[in-house]
Amino acid sequence: MTSHTTRTESAYDVVLIGGGVMSATLGALLKLLQPDWSIGMFGRLDDVAKESSNAWNNAGTGHSALCELNYTPSRADGTIDISKAVGVNEAFQLSRQFWAYLVESGVIASPRAFLNPIPHMSFVWGDENCDYLRRRYEALKDHPLFSGMRFSTDPAQLAQWMPLVMEGRTAGPKLAATWIASGTDVNFGALTHLLVNFLSGQPGFDLKLSHEVEDLKQDASGAWRVSVRDLTTNATVPVAARFVFIGAGGGALPLLQKTGIPESKGVGGFPVSGQFLRCTNPDIVARHHAKVYGKASVGAPPMSVPHLDTRVIDGREGLLFGPYAGFSTKFLKQGSLWDLPKSIRMDNLGAMLAVARDNMPLTRYLVQQVLQSNETRLNALRDFVPNARAEDWELITAGQRVQVIKKDEKKGGVLQFGTEVITGANGTVAALLGASPGASTAVSIMLTVIRKCFAGELPRWDAKLKEMIPSYGGPLADRPELCAHVHDWTTRALQLEG
Ligand SMILES: Cc1cc2nc3c(=O)[nH]c(=O)nc-3n(C[C@H](O)[C@H](O)[C@H](O)COP(=O)(O)OP(=O)(O)OC[C@H]3O[C@@H](n4cnc5c(N)ncnc54)[C@H](O)[C@@H]3O)c2cc1C
Repeated sequence: MTSHTTRTESAYDVVLIGGGVMSATLGALLKLLQPDWSIGMFGRLDDVAKESSNAWNNAGTGHSALCELNYTPSRADGTIDISKAVGVNEAFQLSRQFWAYLVESGVIASPRAFLNPIPHMSFVWGDENCDYLRRRYEALKDHPLFSGMRFSTDPAQLAQWMPLVMEGRTAGPKLAATWIASGTDVNFGALTHLLVNFLSGQPGFDLKLSHEVEDLKQDASGAWRVSVRDLTTNATVPVAARFVFIGAGGGALPLLQKTGIPESKGVGGFPVSGQFLRCTNPDIVARHHAKVYGKASVGAPPMSVPHLDTRVIDGREGLLFGPYAGFSTKFLKQGSLWDLPKSIRMDNLGAMLAVARDNMPLTRYLVQQVLQSNETRLNALRDFVPNARAEDWELITAGQRVQVIKKDEKKGGVLQFGTEVITGANGTVAALLGASPGASTAVSIMLTVIRKCFAGELPRWDAKLKEMIPSYGGPLADRPELCAHVHDWTTRALQLEG
C-alpha cells in the first residue's frame, strides 16, 4: 500500500523497535539510568507482548540451568561440563536482581503478577541416562548457584515430587530425577506490560502501537532516519533517533539487513515454530507442581527438549507439554510467508546453503515433527503423563523462533541456537537475533547492549547499575558472600519462598 500522508518528524534519543520483553527491559534500564532521555517504542501490533513474549507463546521457564540438560554435556571422560550451566544461571541472577529492585522501588507492585516459584526437575529413564543425571547432580550440588538440588531414583520419592508423572507407571526402565525448589515460572507477557506501564508514566516516553517500522538508514550526521507506517491511518511517520534498538523478535533480521551496516552482511535466519499441548482441567493441574525437563531426542535442536510445565498465568495454574517443532517460512507468528524468501540475499545465500547441507538430522527431525499425527503427539506426552487422555489436552501454537545463520570460514555457514547481539555504526544501532535461553536472560542481554553501545556513559551509570544489580560487573560464583546475599534478598523481594 502506498502512503497517503507524511507527518512531521518526531525525534528521540532512543528508538525501541518492538513491544516485547527485550525492548521493554532495555527501555526500563535506560529510563532508570538516564531519566532525561526521550524514548519512542514502536510496535506493529495493537498491544505489546503479542508475539514470543506472550504468556502462552513461550514456556515461561525462568531458565537458570537448574533442569535443562542441554547446558551440562558429558565430556568424553565421563565428567560433566557445567560451565554453560553456570553462565546461564549467572545471567538469570541478573534478571532476578533487576526485578527485585523494580519491586522494592515500587515500579512493580506485586512480583506474583509475573513470577512464581515452581520447582525445576530433570527427569530421565534408562540406565545410561540415570547414570548421566547422577553425574550431573554430583557436579552441581555443591556449587553455590545450584545449592538445594536433590537426586533420587526411588519411585516413592519421585511420586512425591511429580505425582502426575508417576501415576499409572508399571514396571519399566529405571527412572531418575533431580528436584530443586528455587525454580521459577515467569509470565513474560505480564512482565512486558508492567515494564511498559512504568515507562508510559515517565516523561519523554512515547508508545506507538499499530506502528510498523519499514526502513532505517543512518544520515551523514550519524542520526538514524526511521521510516514508520501508522497502520491505522496508513500514513508514513518519519522518526529520527540517536540510537536504535531492533528488538523486533523474529522481525529483527529484515530490519537489521535494512540498516546496511557491514555487521549485517552474511547473516541469515531459519524459522522454527513451536506447538504445545495445554491442559486446564483443574483435577489434573492439581496433581502436578513442577517444570519437568527430559532429554532431547537424536537430531532434535536443543530448544526441542520435551518438558511438562506448571504455568501460572493471571493467578491460575495450567499445564503445558511440548514443544513440538514445526516449520513455517514466517519470522513472526503474525508475520508473512514471504519473510524467509525475502531475507535471502547474495551475502547470506552461501551460509544458508551450507547450513541446509550440514544439518540433515535437523531437517529430518523437523519433517518428522511437522508430519506427526495427534496420536504421535499424545504418545510423546504419555512418556511424561502415562494416563494422559486426548480430551484433556488442546494443541496451541506458540511463538516463532528465528535461529541465526552466520558465515563460517571453514564450513561456509553455521546455525546457532543462542542469542546474538549485533551492533554497528559506532554503537548507534543494536539488533537482537535468536531466542535462547531467551527472555529469562533479557537483563544480561540488555547489559551487553549497554556495554557495547553506551561505553561512554558507563562511568556515570556505574553506581546506579550496582544499586539496581549488586552483582553487576562480575560473576556471583566467585563471590560466595554476595551470592548468598543476592539469593536471600531476591528470594524475599520476589516472594519466592515457595
Ligand atoms: C516456543 C517458545 C518457547 C520459549 N520458551 C521460553 C522459556 O521457557 N523461557 C524463556 O526465557 N524464553 C523462552 N522463549 C524465548 C522468549 O519467548 C523470547 O526470547 C522473548 O520473548 C523474545 O522477546 P522479544 O522482545 O525479543 O521478541 P517478541 O516478544 O517476539 O517481540 C517482538 C516485537 O516486535 C514487534 N515487531 C516485529 N517487527 C516489527 C516492525 N517491523 N515494526 C514494529 N514492531 C515490530 C512485534 O510485533 C513484537 O511486539 C521461548 C520462545 C518460543 C518461541
